[in-house]
Amino acid sequence: MGGTHGNELTGIHLVKQSQKEMLGENYESFSLDYLIANESAIKANQRYIDVDLNRCFKLADLNDSTLTGKESKLAKSINQKFGPKGNSKTDFIIDLHTSTANMQTNIVITRTDLFHLQLASYLKQVLPDVTVTSEAELMEDHHFLESIAPNGVLIEIGPIPQGCIEYACYEKTQSATRACLDFIELFNIDSLPSFTDTLNTQSYYSKIHFPTDDNDDICASVHPSLIGKAYPKLNKGDPIFKRFDGADILYDGEPTILAFINEAAYYDKKIAMCLCNPINFSLISASKNK
Ligand SMILES: [Zn+2]
Repeated sequence: MGGTHGNELTGIHLVKQSQKEMLGENYESFSLDYLIANESAIKANQRYIDVDLNRCFKLADLNDSTLTGKESKLAKSINQKFGPKGNSKTDFIIDLHTSTANMQTNIVITRTDLFHLQLASYLKQVLPDVTVTSEAELMEDHHFLESIAPNGVLIEIGPIPQGCIEYACYEKTQSATRACLDFIELFNIDSLPSFTDTLNTQSYYSKIHFPTDDNDDICASVHPSLIGKAYPKLNKGDPIFKRFDGADILYDGEPTILAFINEAAYYDKKIAMCLCNPINFSLISASKNK
């Protein structure tokens, strides 16, 4: 699936090209379907029209008839076609995204059973510069589109501006997508390679908002020393923002790792960056999914 966010063009073009090339014919153990998720947002070259489509897939929201905004309705129709969540006709969803932040090849998982840990380990083995981030800890009933299937992954490549295509980003997205499909084929024919015992991931636990003035206007930029950095460590006393009067603002919290630094899509909520911590998962003690 591509175009869940209308201004992330890479996934849209990869889905269309994969369809043209009949990518599914390379695989014997499964069939492939395609979706360009939010056509209206794509036409408008916006992330979304009313609300963020990729936050509309909680079971409670899908079943809430009072939610009638454009994306809420769209989520319900996608859920009917590819789900429904809880009893899905789709086994696995790959949802393609990009980021304006330097996220490298970011593999986002929302489940940490053995299948998803092996998938993430496989992607780390076969692709360069993969960081696995886990959003499994954030919520029980996930709001991502990929959560309507029992298995799935979100691929997020960056940095790339919104509304833009760059071949390097396209190619990375394509490699990651094909590696996911290769993994599924190997899983289905019981031919997975061996994996390391532990998967290193980053897990989100908080966000930092931009400083604002009395009018609630942003009054500082992300500190120049952090711009373009991929998952840097931040310690107490490190510069984090630069006020427009030139003064540095220093970080005053526990040591952390930063992601989504200066992400354009988060400015509407005045979020400057997200905080994560390393979490290691054991593939030996992980639970098998059905
Ligand atoms: Zn996105």
